[in-house]
Amino acid sequence: MDQERVDQEQVLVRKVLEWTPYSWLFAGFSTRLGGVSRVFADAAQGGALNLGFVKEDTAEAVEENRRRLVRAAGPLGWRLVVAKQVHGIEVRAVTRGNVDEAMEGGRGQWEADGLITREAELLLGVGAADCVPLLVADTRLRVVGAFHAGWRGTAAGMAEVGLARLREAFGTRAEDCVAAVGPSIGACCYEVGEEVRAAFARRGEAEPIVTGVNGRWRLDLWEANRRQLVAAGVPTANVSVLGECTACSRDEAGRRRYFSHRAEMGVTGRMLGVIGVRREITSRMD
Ligand SMILES: [Zn+2]
Repeated sequence: MDQERVDQEQVLVRKVLEWTPYSWLFAGFSTRLGGVSRVFADAAQGGALNLGFVKEDTAEAVEENRRRLVRAAGPLGWRLVVAKQVHGIEVRAVTRGNVDEAMEGGRGQWEADGLITREAELLLGVGAADCVPLLVADTRLRVVGAFHAGWRGTAAGMAEVGLARLREAFGTRAEDCVAAVGPSIGACCYEVGEEVRAAFARRGEAEPIVTGVNGRWRLDLWEANRRQLVAAGVPTANVSVLGECTACSRDEAGRRRYFSHRAEMGVTGRMLGVIGVRREITSRMD
């Protein structure tokens, strides 16, 4: 299977190659391609797949883009669930019973930076435009989680907290999990200040996650999150780091693959990292 999957509407979702064997799982990371947002696309692109209700875009465009992403997951009754992300470490469990509350008016209502579920056809989404989207799947119990880890969330241990919440809620064992560190700003582009360096120094892991380059600091969020996942018990071989920088990745035509808050000076859209459990064919029949 290609790492890039294009559906009929050209929604481009980066897949995690290593997860191809898990046919019960739908997961991936959106790019700029396949949407209807005019504001973040040049004429040749037609439209951009902005999935966040940012002030520069219209609600109608974002709603259509979200519908397209959900249809890419499957033709049945999938629901997209997102939260109001606040750079914290709150994790909420989503069910068919509370999804209407979570998504009242079509927008994420819960202040949280992590969502977990064990129910099928709930597409958990984590919005980002440089921050790290972390996706986790328990391959034994078939439960999933989506977590948002910018520098604050990473310094607060979002990955470890996410695994702990999966264990508390569903009995997940970290050794049964696969995890993916999605496209996000790389150490190549992520210059940070003293406040950020100090936050990682307090965790006792400033080196080599924060490295000095020409008298300035650069933060490696991919490695920081990879280490946390491994520290939480996820086998090293089960952690996939996509390794694509949202600030500097370009397509063949030289256009940005991703939205980047840093590189586009805050005037940009949002991607979604999404993960969900497909309904079994057998249960579809009853
Ligand atoms: Zn970069």
